[in-house]
Amino acid sequence: MHESAYPLRGKRLVLVVDDEPINRALLGAMLEETCDVIMAENGREALALMEQNRSRLSLVLLDLKMPVLSGTELLKAVRADETLRRIPIIVLTADQDAEIESLDLGAIDFIPKPYPPAGVVLARVRRTIELSEDRSIIRATERDELTDLFSREYFYRYAEQFDRLHEETAMDAVVIDINHFRLLNERYGKAYANRVLRRVGEKLREAVQDSGGLVCRREADIFLLYCPHRDDYESVLEHSGAGLTGEQAGSARVRLRMGVYENADKTIDIERRFDRAQVAADTIRNNLTRPIAYYDAALHQAELFAEQLVEAFPDAIRERQFQVCCQPKFNVQGDAPRLVSAEALVRWEHPTLGKISPADFIPIFERNGLISELDRYVWHETAAAMRDWRENGGVTLPVSVNVSRVDMLDANLSERFLEITRAYGISPSDLLLEITESAYTSDSEYIIATVRKLRALGFRIEMDDFGTGYSSLGMISRLPIDALKLDMLFVQNAFGETRDTRMLELILDIAEYLKVPVIAEGVETKEQMTALRALGCEIIQGYYFSKPIPLPDFGAYIEEQLR
Ligand code: C2E
Ligand code: CA
Ligand code: CA
Repeated sequence: MHESAYPLRGKRLVLVVDDEPINRALLGAMLEETCDVIMAENGREALALMEQNRSRLSLVLLDLKMPVLSGTELLKAVRADETLRRIPIIVLTADQDAEIESLDLGAIDFIPKPYPPAGVVLARVRRTIELSEDRSIIRATERDELTDLFSREYFYRYAEQFDRLHEETAMDAVVIDINHFRLLNERYGKAYANRVLRRVGEKLREAVQDSGGLVCRREADIFLLYCPHRDDYESVLEHSGAGLTGEQAGSARVRLRMGVYENADKTIDIERRFDRAQVAADTIRNNLTRPIAYYDAALHQAELFAEQLVEAFPDAIRERQFQVCCQPKFNVQGDAPRLVSAEALVRWEHPTLGKISPADFIPIFERNGLISELDRYVWHETAAAMRDWRENGGVTLPVSVNVSRVDMLDANLSERFLEITRAYGISPSDLLLEITESAYTSDSEYIIATVRKLRALGFRIEMDDFGTGYSSLGMISRLPIDALKLDMLFVQNAFGETRDTRMLELILDIAEYLKVPVIAEGVETKEQMTALRALGCEIIQGYYFSKPIPLPDFGAYIEEQLR
């Protein structure tokens, strides 16, 4: 069991209830060295103290015969209360018959009067407390088979109990994550990856054990640490990542990443405290130079902002605060640039917060799934506009919509798209779907199957943000796609200060090998456009041609361009 590895420290709080001052004094003297003791003279006082200390109280020692409210009455009252009922009660009595009655009423044990020697009383007190703590923990028990650390549930409950016993101790909630664990798994195999997990778990435990810290593996490669505040996390991290070089992995070094929520606010749920640590860890996801991030005032502000946006979402949909814009894409390989399609991009005009950038709200809605509802709204708006252009302007232009990775997990996705094309009389081949590269890398087999199905139905797929994910060449060559959409960063890097076009050329080579056209976005100048065209890039989107235009105005734009 874990108790030996994780002794719960700190004095337990015990309530002694007896109307005789001498009895209170005797018990107080026996207990005071190992426990914090509070006293009550009758049942009513005791009930009040139990209510005040309901979360911290470990045990009640209860006399039965008392004025005002007797011990028996108190037992009845406690039994009727959901939370008070969990506090173990030992009855103090000289009357053998009363014992049975009090056990029936929920007392857990009894101590006869006159009291046995202090050692006996203390042993009973300790055993009763241990049993009740075990019982509340065992309900959520089970450890992680692989690392032998606490399971997540057990860990959370243990942490809560730790808090109850150490109200004054400042605690840190920490999340530790292994960088590129998925790659490690793929490259060196599961057995090696498991060994890494075990090793990291062991080292983490070693690092914090002395200070009373608790460790668990939350899932996959994510570890949680709950420990009294400290400021040497660099060395904890160093210690935990040490010895992970070499082995099969050659010189590949296993790197850990850590998010720390210091002096955690104990009034919020324990899970939420770790969410905050996770938020901090996420800020350094692709940062190899900074292994530790702290949850700070700025992140807290961001969290509050995110909550505000999530709350505002239902009204925003209902009141049509979201608008859709279209940004044109031009084929530049002919004599003159030719409008070939457009991308639908969502905008949010909030009545009090003003314009909010999709770069701000999309990631938030992706985290909690609201993105699916928003995306469906955008798809419908876009399809309705396409019908309008055709019916009122006589023009048809293919338009791409963004498909979030959350949408990709929707089992009804292809039916939804089919339904939209039917409802608005659009050909599936005119609805282009932009799927971000990183969606492919998260659950590739499933995503690839979904994409195959969509293509079989006639939809065309553009792989968005290409170059930011970690697709292997092997995987890319199996991908069913119709175009690669270069991440804007490549364009910016290629024409920024360094003028390094090698990455760009490499990606264009890959596209040529795959025989798919390349779309460059974020193209702002004529110089960029000319250079990209010379490198073989076929389609260009960006401010150079046009900023995104609100849907109601885009019909006129198309007519003008196609005239
Ligand atoms: P994205 O899909 O990569 O979209 C391209 C972004 O680049 C858009 O930003 C666009 O306005 C911007 N952009 C276009 N041309 C230029 C240029 O020449 N220079 C610069 N600096 N930027 C340019 P936006 O509209 O702020 O969207 C940001 C991201 O939000 C999008 O990136 C996309 O990932 C997401 N997004 C936008 N609308 C939707 C939507 O309806 N659904 C989903 N799931 N995501 C969306
Ligand atoms: Ca896009
Ligand atoms: Ca993009």
